[in-house]
Formats: sequence, C-alpha cells, structure tokens
Amino acid sequence: MSRLIIVSNRVAYPSEGGVRAGGLAVAMYEALDHYGGLWFGWSGQTKDDATMEPRIAESSNVTYVTVDLKTEDYQDYYIGYANGTLWPLFHNQIGLIKFSRAAFDGYLRVNARMAALLAPMIGPDDVIWVHDYHLIPFGDELRKLGINNQIGFFLHTPFPPRQLLETLPRHALLLHSFAAYDLVGFQTEESLHAFQDSVIELTRGRCYGGGAFVLGERRGNAAVFPIGIDTERFAKYARRTARSRHTTRLKESLSGRALIIGVDRLDYSKGIPNRFEAIDALLTDHPEHRNQVSFLQIAPHSRSDVAEYKALRRDLEAAVGAVNGKFAEYDWTPLRYINRAFSRLVLAGFFRAARIGLVTPLRDGMNLVAKEYVAAQDPEDPGVLVLSRFAGAANELKAALLVNPYDADDIASAIHRGLRMSLDERQMRWRHMMDVVSDNTVTTWRESYLCSLYETQLERVAAVG
Ligand code: ADP
Repeated sequence: MSRLIIVSNRVAYPSEGGVRAGGLAVAMYEALDHYGGLWFGWSGQTKDDATMEPRIAESSNVTYVTVDLKTEDYQDYYIGYANGTLWPLFHNQIGLIKFSRAAFDGYLRVNARMAALLAPMIGPDDVIWVHDYHLIPFGDELRKLGINNQIGFFLHTPFPPRQLLETLPRHALLLHSFAAYDLVGFQTEESLHAFQDSVIELTRGRCYGGGAFVLGERRGNAAVFPIGIDTERFAKYARRTARSRHTTRLKESLSGRALIIGVDRLDYSKGIPNRFEAIDALLTDHPEHRNQVSFLQIAPHSRSDVAEYKALRRDLEAAVGAVNGKFAEYDWTPLRYINRAFSRLVLAGFFRAARIGLVTPLRDGMNLVAKEYVAAQDPEDPGVLVLSRFAGAANELKAALLVNPYDADDIASAIHRGLRMSLDERQMRWRHMMDVVSDNTVTTWRESYLCSLYETQLERVAAVG
C-alpha cells in the first residue's frame, strides 16, 4: 500500500481536534486518522525570521510536517492572493476581488518554497493529494523538481464561471498549473463544467469525454467528488448530547420557543446579513412568530486580518442591534449572536435542538454544516433544513427547502413554512436527506477520489508499457 501525503494550507494538529471551524480541516483530520500518512502544510504561525525549517511531529499513525511563514509571505500569499483574490473570485464576489502583482508573486513564491521542502520527504511510491485554492501551483512546482509520483488535487471551493476567471490577470498561468495533476477533483458538475469551459476557451486546451483534458503538453483528468461528513459519528454525538448540560441550558433558555440555528465561519460568502434581514422579514410579515422563535447565529471570527472581514463584522454587529432593537421584548430577544467556536459535540446537540437549520451561503463549494444538521436530527421529530440553492450541498439535499440566499423574503417564507410543517412532511424530507448523507460520507468521498487517482496511475503505467 503506498503512503498517502496530504498537502493543505493549514495543518490541524490532533491537539486542536475538539474545536475546529472549517470544512477542510475537519475532513482531512477524519481522513488521515483513518488511513495514516503524512500531513504537510503551514503551521499557522508567522515569524519575521522564519527559516521555513519544517517541524515534524508524530501522533498515532500520522506524521505532521509544518512550516512557519514569513510575515511578508503571509501577507502576499495568504491575505493577499489566496483570500483577497481567489476566495472572492471563486465565490462570485466580483466587487471584493483585489489583484496585486506582489500578492501573485508571493503566492507563487510560497508554493515553490513549500514544494521544495516537501520534495526530499517523498518516497517513490507515495501518493500526494493537494488541497484547495491556496495551493493550485503546488503540483507544478513538484513536477519542476522532478517528482514523478501520482499527484491529485481537490478544490473545496466552487470553480468560477469562465467569464469571471477571465477577469483575473494572468489566469492562463493558473489554469496551466492544473495540468500538473493526474486527477483534479471538484465538488459539483457545475464546477467541473466551468473548468472545462475555461480550459477550452481561455487556453485553447482540449477536453474529452470521461473527464480527460489536455493543456499545452500535459494531459490530466477531472471529475466530481462531492465531499461528505462522518455521518454516523455526528449522529452519535447528537444522540449523546441531547440531554447534556449545554443542550439543556439552551433548551431551558428558549422557554418552549422554536430554535432556528445558523453556524458558519464569519465570512461574506455565507450570506449572514441576508439571514438577519430574513428574520426581520419573518417577524414583520408573520407577526404570529414574534416571541415564539429564537434565532441563534454562531459565527466565530475568521481571517480577521483581511479588511473585508473586519467590515463584515461591524455590519453584522449593527444589524443584530437593529433587529433586536426593533422586535425585542423585555423577556425575549429574537437574535442571539455568538462569535466563538464550539466543540463538535456541543454543536451536534444544538443542531438537534433546532427546529430550523438555516444554511444560506451566497455560494459554497459544498457546505458541511447542512449535512451535519441533517445527521444530528431526531428521526422521531426532525427539524427542517432551509438551504441555499447556491451551496454545493443543494445538489444532493434536494428535500431541503431550497432558497435564493440573496432574497430575504424567500428565506423568510421558507422559515415560515418550516415552522408550520407537519411531522409527516418533516420526517419524509429528513429521511430522504439522511439516506443521501449516509450513502455519501467523508469515507466514500476519500475512497472514491483515491481509487480514481490510483486508476490514473494504472493508465499511466499502461500507456508507458
Ligand atoms: P467552510 O469550510 O467554508 O468553513 P463548511 O460548512 O463546509 O464551511 O464547513 C464548516 C465546518 O466547520 C463544519 O464542520 C462546522 O461544523 C465547523 N464549524 C463552523 N462553525 C463552527 C463553530 N462555531 N464551532 C465549531 N465548529 C464550527
């Protein structure tokens, strides 16, 4: 069995295991924990005198290799290009995209340096799996160093429509680096098609049936692998915490009111302001819900060094104050807003206690919270998922109440409908969604991706033979 090397921007140590926000970290931890191997990436530390000397730690069957970033590299690579350019571009937030030559150079520089640090640790049979938008050129940098192993890439975010990608200066260079990979994985068909469209229209490359593509001299494969969660484990957490201290305190604080819950990193792609607007619309258009519902939004701060995130934080604080000021009574506030992370156990209990799961990103690669909400429900009395049609999860969770996240009235109507939904309909919709999240878990995702990567190796061997 060849060793698996996972490369991602951020490596999460097992000591961080309890409280971890971010879909990628959760999925990677669960994958390596199961399989064993090496996890390589940034330590999360920045230092002015960073030597980029890797730090190695072992825990059970996983080797963690991390590097610090120089402050300048952090600014250019992480804040500047990855989160100032690619993140808004890949989430269709055109007005927020910033491009600077220095940031792009920093992005390429850090990818090259990190690849040079990993290269000497790669054994002849190792399979390398690179993750996400921070590291698109990583495979290309490994190839330049003569690494001939199987290298796969998975994009956790959406891939932007060709017309948007075209606005990115030097987009051809970025696109060409996808060809270093034997297999490029996407969350949805829509992303795969956008990628193929870009290959054909922006690089004069070619795409073939079955996902093969040719870019310049190189040939790669692209396919769809929707990511899942550890459904059984999450459902078990939810059952276990249904009567825990935290869940009991939460339920008591509701005094019989229905709970609506939102759980997200504080990110402009998650559509949180529209959600607050929707609560305003719900309480305005359906006054019968006043004093009968509580909306709990949990949103730990994220990427706080990026200007747009600071602005979002201020806007949300103002919006919460405005809605509560308008509707609150001396014994009831409609919105509860918490900026910290909770353990997965506590979250599972909160999801189970919530009558409505409100997941309304403006755009999202997948959105694991939607799947976790489904997994956490009580089969006898399940809640209702209100889900953005622009989340990757909407392709699978078709029995959710699908909404346009830009339309606060649409979200408000779905919440109203969910609050009045019969037990029969709730159970029928939940059963449908639970079957989906039980069939496609994080394990099936990982295994189908790695099997496909392995198949590309066999094809390569056959072609050489
Ligand atoms: P993203 O990867 O963009 O953050 P996802 O919904 O795909 O979005 O994944 C988010 C993951 O982080 C989920 O597993 C979720 O449970 C977790 N998470 C989000 N917010 C919190 C929080 N406040 N406390 C703990 N975990 C959180």
